[in-house]
Amino acid sequence: MTARTILPGATVGVLGGGQLGRMLAHAGGRLGYRFVTLDPTPDSPCGQTARQIVAGYGDREAARELARQSDVITYEFENVDAGVAAMLETESYVPQGSSLLYTTQHRLREKRALEAAGARVAPYAEIVSLDGLRAAAEKLGLPVVLKTATGGYDGKGQWVLRTEGDLAPAWAEASRTGTGLVLEKFVKFVKEISVIAARRPSGEVRTFPPAENLHVRNILHLSIVPARISDAVRAEAERLAISIAESLNVVGLIAVEMFLDADGTLFVNELAPRPHNSGHYTMDACRTSQFEQHIRAICDLPLGDTALLTPVVMVNLLGEHMEPLMKWLPACDMEAEKLGVEPKLHLYGKAEAKPGRKMGHINVLAPQTGAALAWISQSDIWRVHEA
Ligand code: AMP
Repeated sequence: MTARTILPGATVGVLGGGQLGRMLAHAGGRLGYRFVTLDPTPDSPCGQTARQIVAGYGDREAARELARQSDVITYEFENVDAGVAAMLETESYVPQGSSLLYTTQHRLREKRALEAAGARVAPYAEIVSLDGLRAAAEKLGLPVVLKTATGGYDGKGQWVLRTEGDLAPAWAEASRTGTGLVLEKFVKFVKEISVIAARRPSGEVRTFPPAENLHVRNILHLSIVPARISDAVRAEAERLAISIAESLNVVGLIAVEMFLDADGTLFVNELAPRPHNSGHYTMDACRTSQFEQHIRAICDLPLGDTALLTPVVMVNLLGEHMEPLMKWLPACDMEAEKLGVEPKLHLYGKAEAKPGRKMGHINVLAPQTGAALAWISQSDIWRVHEA
């Protein structure tokens, strides 16, 4: 596939109409691109800012219509149907290609690609039987984490096994999922961090500053930037993200999630070939946001400056936070003023606020990240969450 420069005025087709597509359309719209999205839910977050084709992701005819209306196609989630991805590649221009999707859709393939890129991953084994699980758990040493090879997210499709008694019940549950299984050694990490890299077809690569990520019940809660890590770890994390982007021939964004252990060693946990929740801080705190960078990369425009303009903490707003958020919003926020922080609200336009559903986020700009964290913990919005 030869790279093309896609100039403003062109239409970007986005497979998936969620918040990532919405924020891509906002950033790309500012540059003068038009957007069309394919999503089964009418009035999707992206559909509110773009034309929308309402159809299932596996619907070939609808995908063909998306291709017909678009000059370039991208996706906002990685579980794109392989047949649809291949069809789009032949009928349209998909600069990200389908091979990166093929790699990141499957944990074993992803781990092998990471090792080939010179990255360290937690020791792992492929599991096909209960006996195999027992043998691998003994070899790796408990605790271990059993994961489905495909389809898992936000901790779904994962079992932490701490004792031998945990093995058989986890196998019974996991083997029913009908997908491949991977066993990983449990990494006793001191921090989770992520780096987002962008690469364009010409080979130019840029990384965003590493984010330090805190999860609550397996869902990202906070991203703290600058991450509270040494300069050596920061440099190594950025170097790893660049070498992964180059080795996998990434076009667009690649988010690299890593564990940092007490010795200062980085293990790559997971990749996402798209904008990432841990990069939402860039929208208010960097010269260029991850969304603009993705559009620049797939359109083969020069990448933007990724410099951090201010310390920031990104905090997610889940369904259960919407009621307290709406109480806070019209009130004068004395605490924020006192702490010198500036909360920047982003909501995704989702109608129903179900518990655990990502409804939006706030980027809390601050003189230091400590002040942003103080504001978040004093606020009534996340009180229940953090308890
Ligand atoms: P994942 O779906 O692979 O991103 O995992 C979700 C979360 O589970 C991670 O962010 C970690 O907090 C935890 N986790 C996953 N794998 C491991 C591991 N091998 N060791 C320790 N914690 C893990």
